[in-house]
Parts: sequence; structure tokens; C-alpha cells
Amino acid sequence: MIGAKKLRERLEPRREDMIETLRQVVAIDSPTFPGTGTTKVASHFEERYRALGAEVKRIPGSSGTGDHLTIRFRGKRPEGPPLFLIGHCDTVFPEGTAAERPFAVEGDTGRGPGVVDMKGGLVTCFYAMETLLGEGFDDFGIIDILYDTDEERGNPSSRPLIEEMGKSAAAALILEPGRADGSVVSARMGSYYGNLTIKGIAAHAGVDPDRGRSAVHELAEQVVRIYRLTRPGGTVNVTGVSGGERPHIVAENASCFVEIRAWQQGVLDAMRDEMATLIESPLLDGTSLHFRPLGGRPAMERTPDTDRLLDLAGNIAAEAGVAFSHTITGGGSDGNYLAPHGVPILDGLGPVGGNLHTAEEYIELSSLVPRAAMLAGLIERCANGI
Ligand SMILES: [Zn+2]
Repeated sequence: MIGAKKLRERLEPRREDMIETLRQVVAIDSPTFPGTGTTKVASHFEERYRALGAEVKRIPGSSGTGDHLTIRFRGKRPEGPPLFLIGHCDTVFPEGTAAERPFAVEGDTGRGPGVVDMKGGLVTCFYAMETLLGEGFDDFGIIDILYDTDEERGNPSSRPLIEEMGKSAAAALILEPGRADGSVVSARMGSYYGNLTIKGIAAHAGVDPDRGRSAVHELAEQVVRIYRLTRPGGTVNVTGVSGGERPHIVAENASCFVEIRAWQQGVLDAMRDEMATLIESPLLDGTSLHFRPLGGRPAMERTPDTDRLLDLAGNIAAEAGVAFSHTITGGGSDGNYLAPHGVPILDGLGPVGGNLHTAEEYIELSSLVPRAAMLAGLIERCANGI
């Protein structure tokens, strides 16, 4: 074992290089759509990983996303279940943002679109591997890394790839940012969302009100019923409410988006099924409801395997002299898709920062080396199972 302490020592002189790499990839606008920018981010790492001796492949994106990058390292051990690391190249910011708000450093704070969510994680992963290999690390079977390009939009293109590459992994390490206090992430809520549309009967609101059936009235009743599905560990969020065309006409159409989230898959499934039952029975005779699912992620529950990974990470962090804590978050990540396959997952292993998805997003530059060291130590320790 090289050990996290030595890995950190080896990473320290790479700090300025890491910041320069971060500057370069933050300068590339990479919204999920169009996929040209994310493909550029992926190509930045493509050659550099190849130079480390990895088998690197570009997987063409579908539905307009950029190309995903798969990176495979083979060690001296026979092939077994791989260690799998996942990061995403896309950000929530549109083209032009990098020119408007270029990468900027002020004291220990780095800013710029996607600086910590999650270009920082893409950078620390690369330097963790570079440093491990530089120290002669080869005591493993397979390490697979995926840099996908569509996480911020719910992985319309990369979800099958994540499942295919990761379903039999020994463990999955997710490169999402550490929380503002440095915590790694042990559990994430699952989600399910879609579009609820309601059909009523139009009529003159003054002349013929009895003939009409208001889709807006039905929608209002249903929204209240759907919110009542809220329970401990399960939340509801309704948005995009609209209906009716003009005054004086009983609304023929109405619609909204419904999103449910839960910590436990069982709770999520129960809420989804109860919502389906509600929708089968309109409250106003003559209206009809239709729910079109648009997406979601399975719940990433904390399991005994998560606890083992937390223990390992805590020990490695101590060895590297890095503060360690963990937390849970309601937001989803690439990690959620592997939870149903029983893969041990630890998330939030990227550098530390906050204000994600806003113009105030920041990264703590002093966290780059310690987090890369913790990640490298974890890769070394988990490469042959946990
Ligand atoms: Zn992210």
C-alpha cells in the first residue's frame, strides 16, 4: 500500500497544475444541450488519460447530448468486478456563461460555472489516478471511470451506460462535490416526476356553467390531494400549474408538473402508486386525468455497505490529515442508478464547495489536494473490493 499520507505528499506539488487544469475546463461552456461543450470537456481528459496508459473510448451521446468518455485501467491482478468512478461533464449553465463569468480566484475561493459541480471532481479524479500510477500502483484488476455528459438533465443518454458499466462493480465512487462543510454523501433521495394533464368540458361560464366541467377546478382538488401524499421521508412538489384559456370560458384543459421524492425506495413506490390511484378517480364527473412520467432516479439508501465505505474513507482521511464527515442530501446523482443493483456507493468525493447551480458557486482551492489524496487513498483501498 502506498497510503494516503504519501499520496498527499505526492499531490502537494501538483496543486498549481490542478488549478490550471480547472481553469481550462471551466473555460469550456458545457451545458447538457447542445452537447458540443461537454464533448470538448471529455476530449480534454481523453488524451491525458490515454497518456496514463488507460483504454479510453468515446461513446457517442444520444438525444443531442455530448460524447461520454469511458476510461479503463488494468492492473496486474486478474479481471474481477471493477472499481467504478463516475463524474459528469455537463453544467446547468448556458453557453456564454464562461465568457461572462470566467474562472476567477480570490484568496482560497475559485469561481466559475461548474467549478465544483463538478469540474473540480473531474480534475481531482485525474490527478488521483496520475499520482497512484506514478507511485507504481498496479495491485488491482480493473478500474473503470465514466465521464458522462448529461447528469444535470437526468441522464437521458448515459443511464444505460452507467448501469451497464456499474451494475456488477465492487464499489462505485461518485465525484460530485463535497458539501460546504466538506461532508461526503452517504444517501440521496429517489425521485419520480411527470406531467399531469386534465381534460374538462368547455362551456360559457355565464350562460351555460352547468354544462361545463372545469379542468382547473379538478386540478386544484387533485393538487391538494397529491400534496397530502407527503409523509415522513417523502416530499411532494407541484410546479408549472396552468389551465384555461380566457375568462368567461369554463377551462377545458389544465396541467402541472408533479415531483415526488423519498429517502427509501419503498416509500417512493408507495407514493407513486397512491398518486396513480388518485389520478384514476377524478373528483368532478366528466373530467379525465392523465399522468405522463418524465423521469426520476431510484433512491440511494444508506446500507451496511455504505457504512463500510464510510469507515474506510474516514480512516483514509485521518491518514491523509483531512477532516472527515458525512451527510445525506435530497438531490440525485449518477450514483442513484446503481443503488437498485446493490452496488456499494459513496458520493460527494469531489473537492469542497457550495452554492451549486447558482452564479455564486465556488470551490475551496485548498481542498483540491486533500480531497484528491482522500480519493486516491480510497481508490487504492477499494480497487479489489471493500
Ligand atoms: Zn453534479
